[in-house]
Amino acid sequence: MSSSELQIKKKPSWLKVKFPSHQNFFQVSNLLKEHNIHTICQSAKCPNISECWTHRTATFLILGDTCTRNCTFCAVKKGTPSPYSEDEASRVAEAASSMGLLYVVITSVTRDDLSDGGAFLFVKTIKAIRLKIPLVKIEVLTPDFNGDDEALMTVVAAKPDIFNHNVEVPESLYPAINRLNENYRGSLKVLERAKEFGAITKSGMMIGMGESSEDILHTVSDLRRIRCNLLTIGQYLQPSRNNAPVIKYYSPLEFEQLRKIALDFGFEEVEAGPLVRSSYRAHRMYTSFLETRIH
Ligand code: SF4
Repeated sequence: MSSSELQIKKKPSWLKVKFPSHQNFFQVSNLLKEHNIHTICQSAKCPNISECWTHRTATFLILGDTCTRNCTFCAVKKGTPSPYSEDEASRVAEAASSMGLLYVVITSVTRDDLSDGGAFLFVKTIKAIRLKIPLVKIEVLTPDFNGDDEALMTVVAAKPDIFNHNVEVPESLYPAINRLNENYRGSLKVLERAKEFGAITKSGMMIGMGESSEDILHTVSDLRRIRCNLLTIGQYLQPSRNNAPVIKYYSPLEFEQLRKIALDFGFEEVEAGPLVRSSYRAHRMYTSFLETRIH
């Protein structure tokens, strides 16, 4: 490896995060353990875990902790999942209530082994949370349900306040993340169908895996063409040696430029930054989206 390559891969200062020290963090950790809850914060080795848990927010991971796909960017455990747990929805609702959450983000591993991809459990979890926290707002971050329109519609019909589905990376990088290019178009279709059915849609991508500026703009444009409302753009970070390497670290200034460009494309709200993830400060993003609509 050349010295310039080494230089480019050294983590820049703006990606340094604090170790958890606040009591809230440990309270949240204990509470999640108590209810036997999986979170994407832990499974994906999210760099924001200290900040988010200190602010008593977390993103619930349902349908177990094992994914049936093998994307190269992702730290989530892969393999053959155990049968899903019947009481997962009520445990998540209980935990959300104990944490005092008024905005809950639910995501899942991809479960290609289940006939509806696990759509039923999204619905069950939405209902259980609403029963427990009547004023709650709910964001779902779903997999693509393998293109199963009925499964998708089942989730959208449960009327989550935000329907989020990530394209993950620009189309040109799909082979690099071990996905087919048609999966990219499939993800756009998921968002398009959710929109046709009345959902407020949100999507996200990571950059830094070797895409060009044109690739990023192409993705932003594709998402706006299907009237996606909200967008997140964050820096890809290699979660382990077994995952795809980082090719480029974008600076905070470059993210700010991308945020402005995406807003110019017509997104109603855009979060872009080195540590932005699709559920990062999701409540704040939802609130400012509503404010933009009012004014
Ligand atoms: S950004 Fe999302 S996944 Fe990461 S710690 Fe915060 S809530 Fe969890």
